[in-house]
Amino acid sequence: MKVTVVGGGPAGLYFSLLLKKTQPDHDVAIYERNPEGATYGWGVVFSDRTLTSFREADYKTYTQITDNFIIWDSIDVCYRDEVLRCGGQVFSGISRKTLLGLLHARCDELGVTIEHQREMGPDDVEGDLVVAADGVHSVLREANAEHFKPRFVSGSSRYIWFGTERTFDSFTFAFRANDDGFFQAHAYPFDGQMSTFIVECDDASWRAAGLDAATEAESIAYCEALFAPELRGHALRSNNSKWIRFETLKNSSWHNDNMVLIGDSAHTAHFSIGSGTKLAMEDAISLANALETKGTVEAALTEYQLDRKPRVERFQEAARQSQTYFENTRLYQHMEPLQFAFHLLSRSGRIDYDDLRLRDRGFVGAVDRWFTASASSAASSSSAPAPAIAAPPSFAPLSIGGKTIPNRIAVTARHDLESAAATGAGLVFTDLVAVSEHARVSFDTPALLSTEIGQRWLGSSDVRSDETAGVTTVVTLGHSGARGATRPRDRMADVPLPPEETWGLLAASPIPYTSHSQVPFEMDRRYMDDVTEDFVTAATHAREAGWDMLELHMGHGYLLGSFISPLTNRRADDYGGAIEARLRYPLEVLDAVRSVWAGPLGVALNVSDWAPGGTTLREAVTTARSFTEHGCHFIRVLAGQTTAKHRPHYDEYFLTHYADRIRNEVGIVTIATGDITTVDHANTILAGGRADICLLRSLA
Ligand SMILES: Cc1cc2nc3c(=O)[nH]c(=O)nc-3n(C[C@H](O)[C@H](O)[C@H](O)COP(=O)(O)OP(=O)(O)OC[C@H]3O[C@@H](n4cnc5c(N)ncnc54)[C@H](O)[C@@H]3O)c2cc1C
Repeated sequence: MKVTVVGGGPAGLYFSLLLKKTQPDHDVAIYERNPEGATYGWGVVFSDRTLTSFREADYKTYTQITDNFIIWDSIDVCYRDEVLRCGGQVFSGISRKTLLGLLHARCDELGVTIEHQREMGPDDVEGDLVVAADGVHSVLREANAEHFKPRFVSGSSRYIWFGTERTFDSFTFAFRANDDGFFQAHAYPFDGQMSTFIVECDDASWRAAGLDAATEAESIAYCEALFAPELRGHALRSNNSKWIRFETLKNSSWHNDNMVLIGDSAHTAHFSIGSGTKLAMEDAISLANALETKGTVEAALTEYQLDRKPRVERFQEAARQSQTYFENTRLYQHMEPLQFAFHLLSRSGRIDYDDLRLRDRGFVGAVDRWFTASASSAASSSSAPAPAIAAPPSFAPLSIGGKTIPNRIAVTARHDLESAAATGAGLVFTDLVAVSEHARVSFDTPALLSTEIGQRWLGSSDVRSDETAGVTTVVTLGHSGARGATRPRDRMADVPLPPEETWGLLAASPIPYTSHSQVPFEMDRRYMDDVTEDFVTAATHAREAGWDMLELHMGHGYLLGSFISPLTNRRADDYGGAIEARLRYPLEVLDAVRSVWAGPLGVALNVSDWAPGGTTLREAVTTARSFTEHGCHFIRVLAGQTTAKHRPHYDEYFLTHYADRIRNEVGIVTIATGDITTVDHANTILAGGRADICLLRSLA
């Protein structure tokens, strides 16, 4: 078989040597545009020392690579002139030049032909198999773009890649604030004499510093001055360095006829999780294996894509989270150093609290002590006893609107408060409680029509909270709006009641929830006043019955949420249009409830509708800020269900990054929701300051 490989980077070289090793009869030729030995980049870091798959694929290169590794096991976070070290991380680095050199030598040894300074175009390639290992700007892929369907997403921050002779003894993240903005450096050693030094910042800081117009020498001078404490007198070395944005690439298909994409031509993942070279080399292993085990090129390419694409997409998701973190670091400048460092270390969702504790008990112990001490001092106005020892963050008390809850775990009571209280959660929420009969979702929706009903739900006094112990109860008041008058949800949600049982629905605009749903009335002033009155009456019942906290449901397509979302609010009056106008009625209700409810008051808010044209996170921040200004004490973060056509995006921590933005941009107590199932998961969220409370998926 004649195999043409375009690109002599890690993907092309490694694939070629593996194929030639297992199938020596194949004619394998690499075409590389650069001269031999010329390469961009300083060092490559592998986040996993074992690289087991490399060992199995070709032991010789594996030992050569690992023999050249610089290995270190700690991450240093330099922030506000403190250096916080977290050990047990296991990183290895190698110079890109060394890596390519040894792969090249192994190719020579096995009989792979390598032609340098040969620029290949789509018309130059021939053979039974064409491997496009020509990097992120692959011309072969672009010539077949209608088949591969590449999609690029540009990062919002700017970065520049340097080298330095300062040899760091850890993976170092350094953060510096100055009058221009907030900047960070990612630095790691790679050959005992040099380190990679990448400087990154948000667009506003970059422009304010004049780096948009700076020459390479001016950029170097600026970064050297900024990171002088970390560089300790060493210079930054240029590498044809330019300020660029990171481009994340995905392709719908990875092969077409006899052409296949591997490495960066198929996918990229943000450099901050250090996996691009590893992914490229793992692609090479998978493709070589598939060609060895499958009878035809077509079957092998299908097998390769099935094996690799889902794995790479998981990495890309972790990389996206890490990239988002680094694009928004200025939001976290208010955090104390230990929390800032914990947040950074757990940014991609791949390392959680328990992992970090296994890696470095001392570091997590320090985080626990700091968290416990700051939580205790914040709650010290209450009679809650200060914990004698540092406990994980879930067990720290929290004061909300003058009420102290004993821990940071919340649950929703699905059946009764007693069983919810038995979980030990500090906060117990009701499901939606309707403010009137016609505010119900269905016949089985509870409605708080009298103080006695509220008292009955609260049950025996031993589940009622006092200031220091026991459960704190939260009643969630709402109006179903366009989602009302449906059958009980235990069989299927949003199925309308038959005509003889139904009632008229109200909403911001006359938009039915599903195509089968009743068209709601657009609320006029009279209906708005009536509904406000219902909220006030129900809040009064809740107060008299003895609930500890009250929450207004403003998400999931219910009535108040229907005013906030542009998808469900098409009003032409003062209550529709810009976000400030769409918020007007929900704020009127909040103010009215506030006038009869003096205790802690919160809002369950959709921070995204998961639908095109819906609420954006930016708007949700504005909304949460307005609620805070109107006396709201906490926000519970929700998403989706504004329209039946929403497209949920579920992954681990899927609502946490929204909670993170609300908490850290608005500074309000934030409750994270969304499939949080373990206390470890909750500790990760809380220790990193992504939320103040975690609502665990129903335990009760
Ligand atoms: C700032 C930054 C930091 C990074 N840090 C790390 C890290 O620490 N760890 C890590 O694992 N990865 C890192 N990466 C990613 C890593 O560099 C890439 O994922 C990896 O090099 C991909 O290998 P590849 O062989 O697919 O592509 P490349 O290494 O890009 O190789 C492609 C080759 O094809 C050649 N070529 C292109 N077009 C043609 C043509 N038409 N004809 C002939 N030859 C052609 C190019 O000259 C090049 O040699 C980083 C990336 C960036 C941007």
